[in-house]
Amino acid sequence: MLPPPGFRPRANQGMLDQMPTPSPIRRETIALPEASLGTQRTWTALHYGTPGQGPKAYIHTGLHADELPGLLLCDHLGRLLDAAAARGEILGEIILVPFTNPIGLGQWVNGTHLGRFEMGGAGNFNRGYPVLGPEVAQRIGHQLTDNAAANVTLIRATMKTILADLQPVKEMDHLRLTIMKHAIDADIALDLHCDTRALMHLYLGTPLWPDAKDLAADLGSHATLLAEDSGGSSLDEALGGPWWHLAKAFPDKPIPPACLATTVELRGESDVTDALAAQDAAALFRFLQRRGVLAGDPGPLPALINDASDLTASDLLVAPVPGVLVYKVGLGDRVKKGDLVAEIVNPLTHGRTPITATTDGFILVMRHTHNVRPGFQVAKVVGTEPLAHRQGYLLSD
Ligand SMILES: [Zn+2]
Repeated sequence: MLPPPGFRPRANQGMLDQMPTPSPIRRETIALPEASLGTQRTWTALHYGTPGQGPKAYIHTGLHADELPGLLLCDHLGRLLDAAAARGEILGEIILVPFTNPIGLGQWVNGTHLGRFEMGGAGNFNRGYPVLGPEVAQRIGHQLTDNAAANVTLIRATMKTILADLQPVKEMDHLRLTIMKHAIDADIALDLHCDTRALMHLYLGTPLWPDAKDLAADLGSHATLLAEDSGGSSLDEALGGPWWHLAKAFPDKPIPPACLATTVELRGESDVTDALAAQDAAALFRFLQRRGVLAGDPGPLPALINDASDLTASDLLVAPVPGVLVYKVGLGDRVKKGDLVAEIVNPLTHGRTPITATTDGFILVMRHTHNVRPGFQVAKVVGTEPLAHRQGYLLSD
């Protein structure tokens, strides 16, 4: 008998049973609450090392769901960490979440995967994380001392208490809170993303530079874009921001930026190859060695490709009209203010609308689709001088 449409003979499904099982120290699976009748998703973290012993690193990927380079990186990094654990080289604690957004991963419409925004109306997956700084200041500001280490311990404990008291309703907010609870006390929190077409780059809190230079150098990052508050309460700023909020609120107390939280843009959506993933996993492994999370000699630090720049010095060029996007530059090309970056072509009128650089700099991000509408971002140009019109909300959506 031929199987009905949508079914296969059982023999063809045997591959699933033969998949190797990762061998972490501990696998933790959290069930998100049922969001629609009969559907429940899970969030899974791999734990290496011992909590409270040595520095803690939280690394996850896939928050925007349709950005796959980080998932492949975690396949490679997980293997390296499994081997390091077997050799007894985990000195601190590592939480690795190879796909942190099961909600977004399931957003398929007629065979097309839609990431970035939660289709139930919860917005951009990387916005709207709890802003803890003011609440921490109110609760324990009067208990801060001249002992920096004691302040870090007190602030972390307070942030954990605040998060423990939150009771989300929506599935997406449960996910946001689950991530925050696992990362809030980390010394290092890496949120691995990618852009459309891009060179490797980082978004970083201004107070974390130049401390994070080793991460940028090890990864071969072409740009580190600095901001204290880019608007939108993205995850990296929700994790790092409380530290510089408190340092400003209590300038006479020693409060270090104790969480190196950063958004890592692992190039573009189509940069999904074993060669790149192995290279990036090795870079993160060396970085964790440099930071004492892992034992072993990372070797000399590579030269930094470009110094950090303020996020307000990078411009987002947008399409003013609909049409066919045609680039006149490539990734990494240097441009001067006024140089032609792209044209929007109207094949009916033969009109060509030029898009020109608004600053001297280099091309960091481009689109990978060419059907554009007014307001669509066409390119990100990294300059060095802050631009007057880049104020307030600095992110791309
Ligand atoms: Zn992203």
